[in-house]
Amino acid sequence: MKIRCPDCQQQITLPQNVVVGDIIECENCGTELEVVRLNPPEVRIVEEEK
Ligand SMILES: [Zn+2]
Repeated sequence: MKIRCPDCQQQITLPQNVVVGDIIECENCGTELEVVRLNPPEVRIVEEEK
């Protein structure tokens, strides 16, 4: 499965064992993305809380 980074539009390949709620990191911009849906795959940017 592949998705696009909502931030930089880089195409990212999801791990085969990915599940909803997993956090993946964009290899291009380093943004953390939470998987919110699998079919079709959809992610959202994780807002950093400081
Ligand atoms: Zn990105």
